[in-house]
Amino acid sequence: MESGRFITPTQGKETSRLPGMTTTTDVPASGVSLSERLRQDLAGLRESGLLISPRVLDAPQRARTRVDGREVVNLASNNYLGFADHPRLKERAAQYLQQWGVGAGAVRTIAGTLRIHEDFERQLADFKHTGSALVLHSGFSTNQGVLGGLLREGDLVVSDELNHASIIDGLRLTKATKKIYKHADPADLDRVLRENPSEGLKLVVTDGVFSMDGDVAPLDKLVEVARRYGAVTYVDDAHGSGVMGEAGRGTVHHFGFEYADDVIQVGTLSKAWGGVGGYAAGHPDLRELLINRARPYLFSTAQPPAVVGALAAALDEVQRDPSLMERLWDNTRFFKAELGRLGFDTLGSVTPITPVVFGEASAAFEASRRLFDLGIFAVGLGFPTVPRDLARIRNIVTAEHTRDDLEQALSAYQQVGRDLGVIA
Ligand SMILES: *Cc1c(COP(=O)(O)O)cnc(C)c1O
Repeated sequence: MESGRFITPTQGKETSRLPGMTTTTDVPASGVSLSERLRQDLAGLRESGLLISPRVLDAPQRARTRVDGREVVNLASNNYLGFADHPRLKERAAQYLQQWGVGAGAVRTIAGTLRIHEDFERQLADFKHTGSALVLHSGFSTNQGVLGGLLREGDLVVSDELNHASIIDGLRLTKATKKIYKHADPADLDRVLRENPSEGLKLVVTDGVFSMDGDVAPLDKLVEVARRYGAVTYVDDAHGSGVMGEAGRGTVHHFGFEYADDVIQVGTLSKAWGGVGGYAAGHPDLRELLINRARPYLFSTAQPPAVVGALAAALDEVQRDPSLMERLWDNTRFFKAELGRLGFDTLGSVTPITPVVFGEASAAFEASRRLFDLGIFAVGLGFPTVPRDLARIRNIVTAEHTRDDLEQALSAYQQVGRDLGVIA
């Protein structure tokens, strides 16, 4: 082979300028400099109070942990079943790591499909009672891959107005006609489908559990409306997997649609399941099409073995130990009822996601700071994430919380709520 055709490290040094490359001395400077762009944008965020600076955990993700150096009761995670630091999951992750190595080494379609990937997908499809399941890198990339891979020009997609950012971004990747229906409103969905006839594939897209209010999509009614128009229902069950339905099989299972070929379930393996990843499950041919069309699947390296091990153990564990789901829901009912008794508005949430309304964003952020000082870690959310007058603190109750943890949180809430005049 002619060595001259390849760029070697020494060649790189000799030719620091490739043909066609210019340096700043060749052309007059114009446009915006990077430092100017960064300075302006950060100042804008700071002025509007939207600049994020995340708190840092100094210990593993648990119901009680250490955050920014302080011991806290943690109501901020999505660690519904306590799997993020679960001994059996860690054990299986370590085992897969030893046996299969650190990385998959390639994208799934080239050389990155290990036997453990295939086995886990089979296990997941069996667990969810669907014809097939495909695993991607995250819930976020799953929405990109499935919506982008399935829909094309001439199709119609109708989306709940409160759907997750990853759905909105996924829909940006398609040339399908996009319409919005009112939040969790089957009558409005009916109207939109009636007013927008389409000869293509019709897809109704909804979260299973909505992440800001903790309400559940009325799937029984939505699927019924969708079917009347020959539309497929696409449920993003990120906050429903491991939470809703028997053994956490999800919101679709909760409503009894798990065997239906006209219902697509996507979701995350990053929340209740404790690792990271996403999945699409449903029609027997869905998996094969997505292998060929879902761009994150085609162009991004497969999940590492340790993650696959942890996830496989998570599905075993939730079926082996029914007390996990019982504790999750006992804690959920207890915490919501007690907040209600104290006089807080939890927006009618029916899932472990428990918003507590403080009104203005500034009040919610102040409440979050005060709670933190009292040893409670829960994050404030304001406009534009939620409506302007419904700024809140979002709490997520987990199976790992003890009664003591929740009582400590409730007494902190009572104090902060009174001090800020939100409750009597
Ligand atoms: C969290 C979430 C996602 C993203 O899942 P990741 O695995 O964290 O990327 C997607 N959709 C919904 C509805 C979510 O709540």
